[in-house]
Amino acid sequence: MGSLISTRDASACSVSYLDAIVQGLAPDGGLLVPEEYPTITRQELAFLQGQDYQRIAAEVKQKFVGNEIRRADMGCFVNDAYAQENFGEGPTVPVRVLEDNLYIMNLSRGPTAAFKDIALQLLGRELNYTLQRRDEHVVMLGATSGDTGSAAEAAVKGCDSITLFMLSPQQGMSPFQKAQMGALSGENIYNVAIDGTFDDCQDLVKELKRDPEFANLGAVNSINWGRISSQVPYFVAGYLQVAETIGEQVDFVIPTGNFGNILSGYIAKKMGVPIGNLIAATNENDVVARLFNTGCYKSGTAIRTSSPSMDITKASNFERLLFDLVNRDVEKVRTFMDAFAREGQVRLDHVGINHNVFQENRLYARSTTHENRLNAIRYAHSHGRIIDPHTAAGVAVAMNYSAFSDVPTIVLETALPVKFEGTINEALSFIPEREERFQDLERHVPEGAFYRMSPNAGHLKQYIRDNAQRR
Ligand SMILES: *Cc1c(COP(=O)(O)O)cnc(C)c1O
Repeated sequence: MGSLISTRDASACSVSYLDAIVQGLAPDGGLLVPEEYPTITRQELAFLQGQDYQRIAAEVKQKFVGNEIRRADMGCFVNDAYAQENFGEGPTVPVRVLEDNLYIMNLSRGPTAAFKDIALQLLGRELNYTLQRRDEHVVMLGATSGDTGSAAEAAVKGCDSITLFMLSPQQGMSPFQKAQMGALSGENIYNVAIDGTFDDCQDLVKELKRDPEFANLGAVNSINWGRISSQVPYFVAGYLQVAETIGEQVDFVIPTGNFGNILSGYIAKKMGVPIGNLIAATNENDVVARLFNTGCYKSGTAIRTSSPSMDITKASNFERLLFDLVNRDVEKVRTFMDAFAREGQVRLDHVGINHNVFQENRLYARSTTHENRLNAIRYAHSHGRIIDPHTAAGVAVAMNYSAFSDVPTIVLETALPVKFEGTINEALSFIPEREERFQDLERHVPEGAFYRMSPNAGHLKQYIRDNAQRR
């Protein structure tokens, strides 16, 4: 177990788990997927029911890693990643009932208040372990429009083997996001504010990667297999919290952008967790909803919405699902992805499948509007809970989805409302009191936390050379 293959490589040349998390993308541009999905039996599920999250995460994650990380080490990473200092007191990923058979699972109690912390906190530890043992050091470069940046920074903060440069647009991030990232500057973390847009930041990353000197810059973006596999355990944990008997079906509604979160749910199901329907909830950037409902995968231009972490123009991790949908035929994946890259759109018919394939696999997707999300925030509030605008997309879809009256349905909470107070205020006409750790956050951005720069690749290269060298 642990070997991975590329969704585009006909020679099926395999890569180890640890190499996969270091390299991210496969060299041929494909995504890495396990040669075979591991399995989890009903007995194992019964054994894990009632155990704490650390235990569940260690058991499930070990299945993806095999003997590449010793059990004792995995136990340490998991205990550290999900320790109280990181995720607060009490259960790490609590599920609470909202109404009848509708539940919300809180995945955003981590250091940056986003579900991405769950995977990134574990991945950061696995990466540091791997690099230390290999006596390697990597320089990572990322671009963020807001939320991912701080979660990635919090994950590798203080790791001796990693230096991270994070580009963000000078204008456009919220004061809260700036403060979260700014507080992480220093040691091995460099925040660079680009005088431009998020697209300028992404273009700079691409341009540097084309230069042989910078070609092997690392990244911990959402296609990293370490992230996908580290999200599978919470589907197991969610299932176990809600199912009264092992075997009973539970549905999940998943706020969706790049298709990483829902893909982990699909993998949990493949492994044998008795999950029924997996329902993606998007915002106005409805690439996934259109794909599922019409069979056309078409990238658009990103619209800025009140759920900005789902403002995407393509769903990168869909390629991993596609690989299975075409029965792991790499030629078909290649044909499909090449057509998409060339034309900006492609139909599933192009590789001989029909969009009914989603329904056959019990995968569904619905889009939501700002108004839908405001209503969902009000609805949740009327049941005693304040949710953020991403989770609200999930709740809005669940509200219109009648099956939850019969089948327990879990909506994944992907961020805390404190990060989006403006929208909460718009929905509820008040701003909830902040947890102590976030009080006055914006007032504490350290002087010089961001190095400001014009979108100039030459200048950026020099900045990286100067600072990555010094370590
Ligand atoms: C990243 C993110 C999402 C989307 O997750 P994907 O794995 O990209 O589908 C949803 N909500 C929040 C708050 C996020 O940060």
